[in-house]
Amino acid sequence: MNKFEHKIYDVIIIGAGPAGLAAGLYAGRMELSALALDRLAPGGQLLNTLDIEDYPGFEHITGQELADKMESHARKFGLEIEQEDIQEIHKDGNEIVLKGLFGEYRSKAVLVTAGGQPRKLGIPGEDQYAGRGVSYCAICDGAFFKSQVVAVVGGGDSAVEESVFLTRYASKVYLIHRRSQFRAQSIAVTIAKDNPKIEILLDTVVEEITGSKDPGQVTELKLRNLKTDNPFSLEVGAIFPFVGFLPNNNIFRDHVEHDKDGYLYTDTNMATNIPRIYAAGDIRHQLTRQITTAVGDGTTAIVAIAKMLEETKSSSL
Ligand code: NAP
Repeated sequence: MNKFEHKIYDVIIIGAGPAGLAAGLYAGRMELSALALDRLAPGGQLLNTLDIEDYPGFEHITGQELADKMESHARKFGLEIEQEDIQEIHKDGNEIVLKGLFGEYRSKAVLVTAGGQPRKLGIPGEDQYAGRGVSYCAICDGAFFKSQVVAVVGGGDSAVEESVFLTRYASKVYLIHRRSQFRAQSIAVTIAKDNPKIEILLDTVVEEITGSKDPGQVTELKLRNLKTDNPFSLEVGAIFPFVGFLPNNNIFRDHVEHDKDGYLYTDTNMATNIPRIYAAGDIRHQLTRQITTAVGDGTTAIVAIAKMLEETKSSSL
């Protein structure tokens, strides 16, 4: 039995990134009891982001600083935060029961802000050299490749921004994108294009990652230009794939309606097709995934949950 077993929260938030922490703050302000459960430390993707320049009010702040501020702000309004990995969810009358690795939790509503994890390229060598030159986190691993040549794959905001970040350490960064147009914000693309350490390879795919055997370490990429169909290779010390996210939807995939990539559908109140289950932030099907949109989603979800709980209370009088 754990200390949560006899408590029924108004809302349990799965995930303590920007959406979850904003929701926790608003829950407290609306006098809802709220518990946020996260597998990792509070902050979500903020913890993998060094510099943030597009969160209003902060011309520049690090991801860690913003995560710390959001966490302490939410705790100030009463949000409880626990490290937990939820494995199972079911309904018991009007209560929702969540089973995690460390215990069982009950609430009247659940807000899923579980975000996602990096999508893999799915090419030979990727798994073999994971942690040995294949990395999905430039902040965590960039410094290991000081004065080396590295490659970044992808054409979204993450790939373009992380390429620029990696020039702090690397002697050269190849930014490899499969199309001739980036989907990243144009300001970020301009900064990358202007950086003398970045060489952009468009219409190009990485087909294989190869390296030394003992100790295993990435040494070379095998690539193909899609316009000419010419194969070629590049000597690199590391490759950082930033090719999008896969939503952490495991326990919801079979119940909550979602798009073909697994992002959960919600209405404009962040309600899913399952009564009392809401979703916000990067796990939700939507146009863009920014810190600002995650915070907005979390806010909307809590206001809607508060309204739903109030209406449920008055209809059962
Ligand atoms: P993303 O926007 O989904 O972009 C993924 C990129 O990877 C696309 O360019 C895609 O190519 C490419 N790609 C996908 N699968 C591939 C494969 N198998 N091989 C080669 N390339 C592949 O992902 P993201 O950059 O990680 O960003 C995720 C979300 O977070 C986005 O909404 C983004 O705007 C947001 N974000 C925002 C910021 C910011 O505002 N500062 C920073 C980071 C992320 P195609 O273009 O051809 O599809």
